[in-house]
Amino acid sequence: MQKTNAYLDLPATRFLPQLCARAEELGAEVARIHDGHAIVIATLGTIEAHTEQDGLRLLVCANDAGSLASLTGHLDGLVAAATGKTPVWAGRAGPRLTMARVDNIDRISPSFRRLRLAGDFLAFRDGGAHFRLLIGPKGAAWPSETANGLNWPGGIDAWHRPPYTIRRMDPHARWIDVDIFLHDGGRVTEWTKIVRPGDEIALTGPGGRNVKQAAWMGLVGDETALPVIVRALEAAHPDTRGQAFLMIADPADAQPVDLPEGMQLTWVLREKHKTLAGLLHRLSHPDGEGRHIFFAGERQQAAKARVILHDMGLAAGEFHTATYWTAG
Ligand SMILES: Cc1cc2nc3c(=O)[nH]c(=O)nc-3n(C[C@H](O)[C@H](O)[C@H](O)COP(=O)(O)OP(=O)(O)OC[C@H]3O[C@@H](n4cnc5c(N)ncnc54)[C@H](O)[C@@H]3O)c2cc1C
Repeated sequence: MQKTNAYLDLPATRFLPQLCARAEELGAEVARIHDGHAIVIATLGTIEAHTEQDGLRLLVCANDAGSLASLTGHLDGLVAAATGKTPVWAGRAGPRLTMARVDNIDRISPSFRRLRLAGDFLAFRDGGAHFRLLIGPKGAAWPSETANGLNWPGGIDAWHRPPYTIRRMDPHARWIDVDIFLHDGGRVTEWTKIVRPGDEIALTGPGGRNVKQAAWMGLVGDETALPVIVRALEAAHPDTRGQAFLMIADPADAQPVDLPEGMQLTWVLREKHKTLAGLLHRLSHPDGEGRHIFFAGERQQAAKARVILHDMGLAAGEFHTATYWTAG
């Protein structure tokens, strides 16, 4: 078990409601003990927040260092938005920095660019499905590691740190591939137009979990979840059964996927009358043990998905819904 903690010099009444609301949005369970004490139970670990003196103590526990770094990374963004400063984590448990170079950029389909990032990815080999791409304010130096965690030139809020999925990784950990969905107004989309092979980039991570494997799997997502769902299908045991639905804007965005015989992958074209959450009704999941449903997409769809899955009678441990992006 990996643990860390940090003291925030701000009243619980200011930060706890934000923490609880964000955790619930991301699909975590929240126990509000009283106004100054709450416990968040997430897939990656737990966060306990309680009043101490005039401020708030955050205790974070996770099974592995990657999950701990991922949870503290989430909290860094939330605390920075509330206070303008990032917390100081005991034992340097904050996000880890990896410097890399863009090795190759390939337009693999109308809506996706695949980037191969070269560097020392040994820290990425032992778990963690995701990382954060760091895009800083114009002219800023890269973040640097200090005894108190990362130092962010211009402040953490000035950095765009969207999470991405490790689509594929070199067995010798010298490169990773990432599939980037190109969309209107996306800062990363704009960045992929100007970045060139040889350019230096910075990432934090790894963090987050791969999709849970089960005897029967139901997988539903949009383009942002395509990499994590395709990874789950490629990693599935040959006896796995189940269904996957991936929503795409262009039929040419469908990728060839090597999946078990007992699994069906359906590419669904995005159309006005279809919602991502609605695709959950097309799953014919078996009764009983050994089933697991994963859903990831836009925030409101993820909220609808939670309601639909509860209504379908699935227990909390039998599904995971995740917000991968927020409209507007
Ligand atoms: C755990 C995790 C893993 C992820 N893995 C991947 C991945 O492997 N590949 C990938 O492409 N994405 C992935 N995403 C989603 C990605 O982080 C978000 O889409 C992020 O907002 C992209 O940043 P941006 O710079 O493109 O857009 P931003 O600059 O953050 O947003 C600009 C505008 O674009 C809109 N926008 C953001 N995302 C989308 C979208 N998908 N469709 C339409 N409009 C959008 C926003 O609402 C905003 O109005 C992942 C997200 C999570 C949480």
